[in-house]
This record gives sequence, structure tokens and C-alpha cells, in this order.
Amino acid sequence: MIIAILLSALAMTVIVGVRYLIVSGAFAWVTVRKHPGLYLGLDPQVRREIVWSLASAALYGIPAGVVAWGWEHHGWTRVYTDIHAYPLWYAPVSVLLYLLLHDAWFYWTHRWMHRPAPFKLAHALHHASRPPTAWAAMAFHPIEALTGAVVIPLLVFFVPIHVGGLAIVLTIMTVMGVTNHMGWEIFPRFMWTGRLGGWLITASHHQRHHELYGCNYGLYFRHWDRLCGTDRGVGDFAREHARAARRVTAASTAPAE
Ligand SMILES: [Zn+2]
Ligand SMILES: [Zn+2]
Repeated sequence: MIIAILLSALAMTVIVGVRYLIVSGAFAWVTVRKHPGLYLGLDPQVRREIVWSLASAALYGIPAGVVAWGWEHHGWTRVYTDIHAYPLWYAPVSVLLYLLLHDAWFYWTHRWMHRPAPFKLAHALHHASRPPTAWAAMAFHPIEALTGAVVIPLLVFFVPIHVGGLAIVLTIMTVMGVTNHMGWEIFPRFMWTGRLGGWLITASHHQRHHELYGCNYGLYFRHWDRLCGTDRGVGDFAREHARAARRVTAASTAPAE
């Protein structure tokens, strides 16, 4: 039994790690094409982001693996496979519920990690990426990684969700984690400006968190930041993009060795 649990944890770690490498790698590849120079000269930082992200993959994989084993063998959790086990309208509602609950947990733990002592201990590592890249999505100190890793494995015990809905939640989590850090906006303008943008978090919002620190703590939604007076609006990438263009020019005019 112990072996089966360990294998499940190991399998989940590999899945999370490979998922990270594929998604971050794909968006980093697109970034190099869309904004050449944005990651130029950041190799040591990128290497550090990858190492810490893979360590986080293990911390995410272990609780997920244990819960997945319990689900398979003992019927743990309230994850269901028959879509008709609950009314159909509940399927999208459960996805939204997971995102809202995860967002609330993230907002308050993230805000706590910006207090001086926890910041130094657990969160400075994530902010050491200046500016972050697509590889920084899971670059967390183990304490921060644990605070994130327990959310979904705990929620599945309390909030029913279809297995497909859970896959959607995990996909949104992965894609937003990467795109919020990659240094440019991939989403259409209405998602980060205007009425809808006032409530959703994309890269422009999280950019300002990495720039100014004590604001914009949310994960998916802006309501906690707005309610608590910590929302400082959306930033932009003009300075970084101008720097990237200068790097490209400098690299192309440098004398060949
Ligand atoms: Zn932070
Ligand atoms: Zn961040």
C-alpha cells in the first residue's frame, strides 16, 4: 500500500513537472518570436526559475498523488465521473466556485507573505525574478509552494466537481500561472481593460504586483484587491519592451568575435 501511494505521488510529480516544462516552454518559445530580446541575457535567472519550479512540482505532486490514490482505491473526495450525478448547471458553477475559493485563499496567503518576516523567508524568492519570465510560473520557495499545493487536494474533499471540471480548473491554473509572468499580454484587451477587465486578472495586473510589491495580490479576480483597497490598477510592459528592443539592436550591432 505504501509503495502504491509513493508511486502515485511520483507519477503526479512527473505529470506536474512535465506539464510545467511543456506549457512554460511553449509560451517561452512564443515570447522569443513575438518579443525578441525580452529574455535576452536572463539565462541565469531562467535556470533558477526552472530549478525552483521543478522542486515545486514535487511539492504539488505529492499531496495530489496521495489524494488521487485515495480517490481511486477508497472513493475519497467528491470528484465525480457521471456528469448526471449533479444537475448540469452545477458543472460550470463548480468550476467557478473552485476558482473563487482558490483566489480567496491565494489573496490572503499572498498578502500575508508580503509581511516582512514571511516575505524574507518564503516569498522573496518568487520576487527575485525581475522581471519574471514564462518559466517563473512555479518558481516558489517550498513554504510558498506548499501553501499553493494543498488548495485543490483539500477542496476536492468538500466541493463536488466533475473530473472534467477539475481538468479545466487545473488547465486555467497552469495557463494563468505562466501567462501572468511572461512579460506581455496574450489576452484580448477587453479582458484587462474596461468593465470585464476591472474584475479579471491577467499579466498587466500581475506585472504591477511585481513592479510595486504591496498591491495587486489576487490570482484570478480583482474583487479582493478592490474590496481591501490593494488594487493599484493595471501596469504595462512599455519599459521592458523598449529594453528588449535595445538588447536586440545591441546584439545585432556587436562586432563578431
Ligand atoms: Zn508577491
Ligand atoms: Zn508572481
